[in-house]
Amino acid sequence: TVRVRFAPSPTGALHVGGARTALYNWLLARQQKGHFVLRVEDTDLARSTRESEEMVLRDLRWLGLTWDEGPDVGGVCSPYRQSERGECYKQFARKLIKEGKAYPCFCTEEELEQKRLEAEAQGRPPQYDGTWRDANPDEVKMRLERGDEYTIRFRVPEGSRVVIDDAVRGKVAWDANSTVGDFILLRSNGVPVYNFCVAVDDALMGISTVIRAEEHLTNTLRQVLILRALDFEPPQYAHCSLILGADRSKLSKRHGAASVTQFREEGYLPVAMVNYLATLGWNDGTEKEIYSVEELVEAFDINRITKSAAMFDKDKLRFINGQHLRALPQEEIETLVIDEWKRSGVFTDVIQPSAPLGSTATALVRGSLELVNDANAEILSALSYPLQETIASGEADELIAEDGGFAELASIALRDYDAGVMPIGNDDDHATQWKEWLTTVRKETKRKGKRLFHPLRLALTGKMSGPDVGQIIRVLHLTEESDASPSLVP
Ligand code: GLU
Repeated sequence: TVRVRFAPSPTGALHVGGARTALYNWLLARQQKGHFVLRVEDTDLARSTRESEEMVLRDLRWLGLTWDEGPDVGGVCSPYRQSERGECYKQFARKLIKEGKAYPCFCTEEELEQKRLEAEAQGRPPQYDGTWRDANPDEVKMRLERGDEYTIRFRVPEGSRVVIDDAVRGKVAWDANSTVGDFILLRSNGVPVYNFCVAVDDALMGISTVIRAEEHLTNTLRQVLILRALDFEPPQYAHCSLILGADRSKLSKRHGAASVTQFREEGYLPVAMVNYLATLGWNDGTEKEIYSVEELVEAFDINRITKSAAMFDKDKLRFINGQHLRALPQEEIETLVIDEWKRSGVFTDVIQPSAPLGSTATALVRGSLELVNDANAEILSALSYPLQETIASGEADELIAEDGGFAELASIALRDYDAGVMPIGNDDDHATQWKEWLTTVRKETKRKGKRLFHPLRLALTGKMSGPDVGQIIRVLHLTEESDASPSLVP
């Protein structure tokens, strides 16, 4: 049966590249009715954190990539954190030593550095030269008894060739002896190296297929050598190509959002992320680009993962998101829009979420909605700017007349809005700032009470009545970021 794993190192947020790797493994597991294992590779204690692990797990759950075995749910191969599997690694290191497939090396850091320099000077690759490979057993015994520090090195067998049939890259072959020297398995403090942990875990966890990023291809040689020495069958490998930013360098924070958390916060739907990531580096041979999760599970094929690097295209993701979003039932869109508004602080004590509000705005934007927070930009037209209509209705005639103060207040508001003096933000002390601004306007216009508030309300909201103007104005900051800047005068 198919057993796959996703093996994140919890040193930060879940990157879209990692999410795609997880997704491909998950798709294969679900399609083949196999098992999807989550293994946390936290051997780098200095960089790994529990917070990061929790973030990664949360984002995987949000994407819907559920696992059958993992640190939180347990499973037959527990534990699933490498930091808790130290005994397994030691046990296999002992086995290799006993069989003569690994040996202690007493070279000090200084000696190794010296060897590297010499190799460099002679134009040789900086590989370990095998000083302790065939050492005199008495000498070894003496050193051990003396308590000298040592590492455990893997004995790369003479004449070994490693060939893998990678599902993405085809045949990849290495001449092991000329590529690596006898490499370290356990450091002098007894801590196992990364490649040793991965090989042991893939074997003990019965992993049949390893889908991972191309950057791990260089680790594969060492991992296969270790697996062979332990008499385990290496898994099938599939090394996926990089995801690039628009400038063709590896996608990273520099390119804007690169972590799943960021896309979640920007309002993307998990199904759209899954759809886009699946097609970013895989296709079913047709032009199809919109898939449901079920369709992906059915169509996915690791032999159709593309070998060339994929360019991350946010507009494409947006487009795909729009397709999934607009296909949702009206009520679901409304709920999403209202949730998004709640999250971005549109609602205040005075402006409360309401179904009519949601449906007005949703209907307004439905035609072109790609991202749920595109609706933010529309909220003002839904909420506060039917000024033209109010004017046309004649309702505001009196205020619009010169002595009603509308023109005066509108021009002051426009001036202060443009100058950034009018408090429109969503700050905690908005109420105080708003009062201060009103005080200055009061002084400037010598207006107060209704003569101040009515024309001001009309100028700012386009309406003759409604919620407190100071509260309404808090939402203006949302439209500021979009192109739809409010027109304060008719
Ligand atoms: N822990 C590795 C990473 O986060 C994955 C290693 C692997 O898949 O073999 O990049």
